[in-house]
Amino acid sequence: MSEFKIRTSGRIALADITAEVEAAAARAGVRAGLCNVFVRHTTAAVIIAENADPDVSADLLAHLERLVPRDGGFRHGEGNAQAHILSVMLGVSLNVPIEEGRLRLGRWQGVMLAEFDGPRERTVAVSVVPA
Ligand code: ZN
Repeated sequence: MSEFKIRTSGRIALADITAEVEAAAARAGVRAGLCNVFVRHTTAAVIIAENADPDVSADLLAHLERLVPRDGGFRHGEGNAQAHILSVMLGVSLNVPIEEGRLRLGRWQGVMLAEFDGPRERTVAVSVVPA
């Protein structure tokens, strides 16, 4: 397992971490296997989304904010219940197949860290399992 840190850019934001994940997976030296990406946070998530058109990210974040409004009458006193809910909905880990030592992503797919309570520094863990 290896880790890298990423500084997010806003309260709610997406950060493309495909290159960092790819580099971490390459360091593992596995030709074929499964790459797990995991964040040890309760107000962030990791997702795979289109990384070509930035409007896709903007639409995604705007829709998530409508789905779970920031002021939703939540009990949690810290004021970031929206972030906790979105983290659970989107998930804190995902897997990508590795083939010939590289992430086997689709042409338009990117691995993104989804920030819901930023900006702040986040830690991403990458584990590679040979298969
Ligand atoms: Zn909280």
